[in-house]
Amino acid sequence: MSVPKYTPNIAIKRLLNSNRKVIREKLPLKNPKEQKARDYQKKLLMKKAREYLPYRLEYFAKLYGYSYNKCRLSHANTRWGSCSSNRTISLNIGLMKVPEILRDYVILHELAHLNHMDHSKAFWAEVGLHDKNYKIHEKKLKNFSPGL
Ligand SMILES: [Zn+2]
Repeated sequence: MSVPKYTPNIAIKRLLNSNRKVIREKLPLKNPKEQKARDYQKKLLMKKAREYLPYRLEYFAKLYGYSYNKCRLSHANTRWGSCSSNRTISLNIGLMKVPEILRDYVILHELAHLNHMDHSKAFWAEVGLHDKNYKIHEKKLKNFSPGL
């Protein structure tokens, strides 16, 4: 972690505390047993995700009249989903660990990006059409991490 030279210790501590979860996920695991368990968990999650996320995406796309190009499954540590300009929607396999309502919110969020490639007012208005509690869901999602 790099900080400006004169950053007070308390500020560093605060930053470390607020990012502890993220930092821990980025550190290599020393215990091979733990690594093995994690690999296994990832495999299981990928299997679950493959059998669920593309179908859920397709369901909502059909329901609300969106057309996307393809669905990719990702396991990036930092984002729940993304939508590229070639209309590929990526969904994080970690979504299989969050409550269904939040999972659906992420899918609806990415679908809305097909029409708005930004987080403009128009974008949020569109998300709100299909998930009127999107603000609460966006907030609740912060309690979870997409990493394994
Ligand atoms: Zn977005």
